Amino acid sequence: MATAPATRSNLHRNILIGLVAGAVLGVAVNQMVEGSSQGQQWLGWALRNVIDPVGEIFRRLLVLVVVPLVFASLSLGVARLGDLRQLGRIGLKTFGYFLVTTTFAVVIGLTLVGLIAPGRQLSPETREGLERQFRGVASDRLSKPTEFGVSTFVNIVPDNPLRAAVDMQMLPVIFVALLVGVGLTRIDRPKSAPVQQVLEGVADLTLFIIHLAMMLAPIGVFALIFSTSVRFGFDLLQSLGLYVVTVLLGLSLQMFGVFPLLVTFLGHTNPWRFFRRIRTVILTAFSTSSSSATLSTSMAVAQEELKIPPPLAGFVLPLGATMNMNGTALFEGVTVLFLCQVFGRDLGFNEQVIVVLMSVLIAIGAAGVPGGSIPLLGMVLATVGVEPGAIAIILGVDRLLDMCRTTVNVTGDLTAAVYVARSEANRPLPADVAAA
Ligand code: ASP
Repeated sequence: MATAPATRSNLHRNILIGLVAGAVLGVAVNQMVEGSSQGQQWLGWALRNVIDPVGEIFRRLLVLVVVPLVFASLSLGVARLGDLRQLGRIGLKTFGYFLVTTTFAVVIGLTLVGLIAPGRQLSPETREGLERQFRGVASDRLSKPTEFGVSTFVNIVPDNPLRAAVDMQMLPVIFVALLVGVGLTRIDRPKSAPVQQVLEGVADLTLFIIHLAMMLAPIGVFALIFSTSVRFGFDLLQSLGLYVVTVLLGLSLQMFGVFPLLVTFLGHTNPWRFFRRIRTVILTAFSTSSSSATLSTSMAVAQEELKIPPPLAGFVLPLGATMNMNGTALFEGVTVLFLCQVFGRDLGFNEQVIVVLMSVLIAIGAAGVPGGSIPLLGMVLATVGVEPGAIAIILGVDRLLDMCRTTVNVTGDLTAAVYVARSEANRPLPADVAAA
């Protein structure tokens, strides 16, 4: 389902307007209602009854097609590849790319936090104030079950695929789609053909629904950004300013330094053109703070704008949304070291290596939802001898950082898809996209 270029650029422009308007109005109203109980009551009513429901409907419209889209495009993709060796090669390349880029991101973060040392600038009074203010939220977040270990890998094989789909567990869905795809190449053609036809119909239908949902994006993005900025504690930016700057600097280096290099040298694609074509994905990730909610948009953009063959987009992007989180890994590394600095705990080289490894693992295990990595962060803190409840110190600024790290996470997935598509010589990208 193609959309006319003029309509598409209008849509980009309107989403951007929605984002800027949401941020500006949100900050203005935030300041206006400060200290006015009547204003806060009015705002609470508007958020509960109008703005949050609109944002939530938009988010749900994006999420509702994720499972059928991933299942249909991946199983069809495998069926069309029809070759297990090719699948293995693509899988290895994809995982290798995820691991290397994620490790690189953490190293950038740790280097910056070592150089800037934001934790040494935080006074004990500010620290105690923040701990007191966010203690309740922290224990709430940490009480969510966090399971990461051998069972995480066992759970990739579902005992009930329908339940996995209903619970939106993407790794089991991917696993079943792979099996179905391989099966389609092995059973008799008269039996596989109608199944393949249905899957093709489902894939096209889901893309159609994403386009409809994206028409609401300007309003949805406005609502999500307004709701976030109107609730944001801007005074916290003063006390945690240096920490926020360190995370944002690291994310910017990954986004505008590392990714363009990867896209140019591994993806043989012009980075400027790459960023222009994925604008909608960037705006969606930033406003939803969720890799999962952005997945349907990235799948559509990868196929339609970056011209990545559906089998490859269908394989790399769903895996990436769950397992490839460059921004999250960088954030984890910076935060752990920052909190160690705050509590005067100096980490030696070996301990820093452990932080790198754990941050990479957590980026694989974290759920692609807002704040999905926070419960796992507590686990790393405990490993390096800091009390997990210390995350209270950074929770007040987490949403802002989450928006930015999710953008980096999702962009990283698209760079992986471009790399894999390009490196598969028998499936080159069209010249207009690939021209550097
Ligand atoms: N919100 C992030 C994502 O969905 C996960 C996290 O870092 O909390 O990619």
